[in-house]
Amino acid sequence: MTVPFSLAEAYTNYVEERWRATRPQRSLSERQLALFYGVKRFIPRRLQLAARRRLVRLQRNPDFPRWPLDESVSRLVQFYAKCLLAAAGTDELPFRWFWPDGHHAALLLTHDVESADGLRLAIGIADLEEERGLRSSFNIVADWYPIDWGIVRELTARGFELGVHGVHHDRSLFSSRAAFEQQQPALRRMSAKLGAAGFRSPATHRVVDWLSELPFAYDCSVPHSDPFEPQPGGCCSVWPFFLGDVVEVPYTLPQDHTLFTLLGERSVAVWQTQLERIEAQHGLVQLLTHPDPGYLGETRNRALYCEFLELVRDRPRLWRTLPRDAVAWWRLRDAAAEPDLPVGIARAGDEVTFEPPAPNADSPD
Ligand SMILES: [Zn+2]
Repeated sequence: MTVPFSLAEAYTNYVEERWRATRPQRSLSERQLALFYGVKRFIPRRLQLAARRRLVRLQRNPDFPRWPLDESVSRLVQFYAKCLLAAAGTDELPFRWFWPDGHHAALLLTHDVESADGLRLAIGIADLEEERGLRSSFNIVADWYPIDWGIVRELTARGFELGVHGVHHDRSLFSSRAAFEQQQPALRRMSAKLGAAGFRSPATHRVVDWLSELPFAYDCSVPHSDPFEPQPGGCCSVWPFFLGDVVEVPYTLPQDHTLFTLLGERSVAVWQTQLERIEAQHGLVQLLTHPDPGYLGETRNRALYCEFLELVRDRPRLWRTLPRDAVAWWRLRDAAAEPDLPVGIARAGDEVTFEPPAPNADSPD
């Protein structure tokens, strides 16, 4: 059986956002972005939000990547499995399962801390999670607001993960190659101070080709699909992937600000549906929220976040873990150094299905 295109190239076109080069862009040019950030601070926040809400009505139904879930990569992976099954002339093939210990899908809770107030409020968010047996990561900006290191130490001691959210909370890191190189030492220093393994770019600005050079084990700046960010786009994948030696861990749920502020949602229905659909594809559910005022700092938003925590706490097949541990697993799975990693079955049919490993005595039910 031959396929009239390169599957590997198609995959790279999606996950590395190379499709952007061939599509009309609704994002702003470099010059427009510079102008936007130059005038932004002179525009009252209320007016900024009103303008964004009008824009949002246009943004929420992009034809590609689909929002909130784009199944392009899932379909490509299925098609790849179908080709392998056909080539082997068989109805079922074993493959290395997506997640450890018989889990059907994975969940990561992550936060970007935008301000000193946000860092103070992080403790309250950590309490809400810990009460439900959950942990999360908090990404902190190196040089943008005063950092209360007592809070950082407390979060670390309680088993939360710390990550780096840029040197400055602006687009400077990816604004030029010179700036990217110049900020590397500061990123390294902050990484060492926090004991951080991971990075998320401020406002998810990114040059995908440079992400593999970040001094981190993983990056989580690339959305699955996010038409609402200043740099819209997405990798269309519900699984992590490698950019060089850096593991890219896409966030796969709409952000808190998108859902509650821009779209004015008053329930967690969008998050719940997305959670269920990604679980059905055995993917990674990653939620990005902010502890800051205007985000989870608002009582109403915090209550909705608690509702989501309640949804995920009693799902024994969902691997609730930290980004650094999910990334360590993804490397192990890729290296296949261990002989007894869990094995799933790809089964032929109208659509190829992926069956999880059979449960055993020590796996959850
Ligand atoms: Zn941020």
